Amino acid sequence: PFEVLIVGGGPAGAAAAIYAARKGIRTGIAAERFGGQVLDTMAIENFISVPHTEGPKLAAHLEQHVKDYDVEIMNLQKAAKLIPAKTEGGYHEVVLENGASLKGRTVILSTGARWRQMGVPGEDDYRNKGVAYCPHCDGPLFKGKRVAVIGGGNSGVEAAIDLAGIVAHVTLIEFDSQLRADAVLQRKLASLPNVKIITSALTTQVNGDGNKVTGLSYKDRNHGTEHDIELEGIFVQIGLVPNTEWLKDAVTLSPRGEIEIDARGETSQPGIFAAGDCTTVPYKQIVIAMGAGSTAALSAFDYMIRLPAS
Ligand code: FAD
Repeated sequence: PFEVLIVGGGPAGAAAAIYAARKGIRTGIAAERFGGQVLDTMAIENFISVPHTEGPKLAAHLEQHVKDYDVEIMNLQKAAKLIPAKTEGGYHEVVLENGASLKGRTVILSTGARWRQMGVPGEDDYRNKGVAYCPHCDGPLFKGKRVAVIGGGNSGVEAAIDLAGIVAHVTLIEFDSQLRADAVLQRKLASLPNVKIITSALTTQVNGDGNKVTGLSYKDRNHGTEHDIELEGIFVQIGLVPNTEWLKDAVTLSPRGEIEIDARGETSQPGIFAAGDCTTVPYKQIVIAMGAGSTAALSAFDYMIRLPAS
């Protein structure tokens, strides 16, 4: 059994593993795919003190840094169930999809999240070539260019307001007949000169020239007509889904499925902590996930030194 068992091997899990191992306690990390979302991105320019890196490179560095310590890495292992300890200080159990089970005196959940996709032709082909999901990450890459934001909820409208200050023009596309964002955000959006809002529009295709995005096609849902827009970037903002489906019965989740944590990273279950994109932490970013993973590991250590000697 482990003193600290981490589930998830993205930036949050890697940071937690390093912080835990540096306390000299038995640490294990199980991950479906070590590296996490970072593997799906190319240019990273907001990882502070590293002006530019690439996703796969950062993921390799994460793994190397963890391997510098005595950490048991169990890659390509998907957790299916978490059974919290019956008594305070007992072992929590994580059952893997393959039927094996792991035990931890403390558990740190860092299973991240995934961006909901449109599922239209061209979206996959042009990911990182004009199709983007994170305005904080990729907004500046489209300086002076034309972009679309797909989705008129809070995150879509926030993204459109954010991008309008950087890019030449923003087209916001909403499937419904009206935007769903808070009124104050909608008023702000409407006040911007370089934003066009199209409602009742179903995006049908991402268009490109083989190397990069050149536009998108949408269907007007009121008239059934097809339209093309020329642009250089498409930000898909139709939801960020936490990878927490397997935790429903184990810890308290928010209505959006995020693991509820306190300022120390502790969940509703004593001895079970969480960090990064799978939690209620505001803003989902690499540096934030790493900070949260470190917090969770230090809190796990703090929890253990207070347990009665056995
Ligand atoms: P993740 O990176 O999502 O890692 C989750 C880990 O948990 C993975 O190892 C996964 O395999 C594992 N896992 C999931 N479910 C299970 C399970 N049931 N059992 C076991 N393991 C499981 N952020 C920036 O700061 N700058 C950027 O430039 C940037 N660009 C981005 C570009 C793209 C295309 C995307 C998708 C994201 C980008 N982000 C960027 C966001 C950033 O990648 C995330 O905020 C960060 O990776 C979150 O780290 P995490 O450790 O919480 O989760």
